[in-house]
Amino acid sequence: MSRKTLITQSIRTRQRSEMIDVTDRVQKALHVQGVKDGIAIVYIPHTTAAVTINENADPDVKHDLLKKLEEVIPNRETYYQHGEGNSDSHLKTQLTGNSVMVIIDEGKLVLGTWQGIYFCEFDGPREREMLIKIIEG
Ligand code: ZN
Repeated sequence: MSRKTLITQSIRTRQRSEMIDVTDRVQKALHVQGVKDGIAIVYIPHTTAAVTINENADPDVKHDLLKKLEEVIPNRETYYQHGEGNSDSHLKTQLTGNSVMVIIDEGKLVLGTWQGIYFCEFDGPREREMLIKIIEG
C-alpha cells in the first residue's frame, strides 16, 4: 500500500535574498502525517525563489553562498531586457533549482550530519509557498 500526501506551507521572507532552514518544518510535516518510510519532494512554485540542501551548522556558509551568487549574478547588467528588473532573481533561482528529494526512513528525513533543507528567497521580502509531496512506500 502506498499513500500520497501534498502539504502546502506559507513562508514569510524578510530580505531580498536569504536562505531559511526549513528542515524542521518538513520533518514536522512527516510527523503530523505519521509517515514512516518513503520520499519527500520539496517543491517551490515560484520563479524567483528556490530550494536546496546545504550546510546547516555554520551560518557563515549561507552568507558566503549568497554573497557569491550576488557577485556572479549582479542585479544590473546592460543587456538585461526583462522589464520587471529582477533578472538576477530569475537567474539565481535557475541555478539553485525548484525542488529537492529526500529519503524518509523510520519517520525521519535521511540527511547527512551537516545537511539542512533551505528555502532560498531571491526577490523578497514576500509571502511564499512551499509544497511538500510525500510518497509513502
Ligand atoms: Zn521577473
